[in-house]
Amino acid sequence: MRLYADWHMHTIYSDGHATPEDMVIAAAKRGLDEVAITDHGPRGMFIGVRDAQVYLEIKQEAARLSAKYPVRVLVGAEANVIGLNGELDIPRQIIEELDIVIAGLHPQVWCVPWWETFTWILPNQVGRATSLVRERMREANTVALVEAIRRNPLTFVSHPDLMMAVDLDAVAGACAESGCAMEINVGHRYYRDEVVRAALRRDVPLVVNSDAHFPKNVGNLAEGAALLEKYNVPPEQVLNARKH
Ligand SMILES: [Zn+2]
Ligand SMILES: [Zn+2]
Repeated sequence: MRLYADWHMHTIYSDGHATPEDMVIAAAKRGLDEVAITDHGPRGMFIGVRDAQVYLEIKQEAARLSAKYPVRVLVGAEANVIGLNGELDIPRQIIEELDIVIAGLHPQVWCVPWWETFTWILPNQVGRATSLVRERMREANTVALVEAIRRNPLTFVSHPDLMMAVDLDAVAGACAESGCAMEINVGHRYYRDEVVRAALRRDVPLVVNSDAHFPKNVGNLAEGAALLEKYNVPPEQVLNARKH
C-alpha cells in the first residue's frame, strides 16, 4: 500500500509544536505529494485555534507554501463534535472554505449547550469506573458522532473509538450513507483492527494519517499501511493510497 498524502496534522495554530512551514518541509523530505494542515476546532479545551477565522489565515499561508515547496498544501480542520445533536465547532461558511473537513470526538471540549460538557463529555472521563456508565456513554458518543456525519460535509472522522468509545458498526453505517471515510490514526496507540473490520463490512473508505504534532512525525504512515495490508484492503478503498 503506497500512500501519497497525510491529511491530519497540527501546528502552532492549535496544539502542534511547529509552524505549517516546518511541517511542509518535513513532508517534502518524506516524499509526500500532499499534506493537509488540520488544526483543532476552537472549542477544544486549551488546545483549539483562537477562533475559526484562523483557518482563513492558514489558507493564505498554505498557498504560499504550495508555491515554495514540491508538496500540495491543503487546509482542513479537525472539528470537535460539541453536542449530542452532532453540531461542530466551526461555522458552515468557514467549513465551505476548507479542503478537508474532519470531525472527531475528544474528551476535552466545551459543549453547546454548555451543560452537555457535564452530562456527556465529563462522564466519559469518569465512566471507566462502572460498566453501566461506560455503556451509556458509548451510546451517547455514537449518537453524537452519527449525527455529526449525517449533518456535515465530512471528508472523514478522526480516530473513531479512541478516547471516547463508539459503536463502530453504527458509525460505519452512517459513513456509508454519507460518503464519509474512517481514519486509521497512526499517532495514537489504540486497537485499530476493529475500525478496519467495520469499514470492510460496510464498504466504507479508509484513510491513514499521522496526526503529527511535530515535524518528525509527518508522513509516519507505515504502521497504518501495514494494517490495511493485513486485511487486504484494496487501494481503491483508501482515500490517500496510490491507485496504480
Ligand atoms: Zn483528534
Ligand atoms: Zn488530531
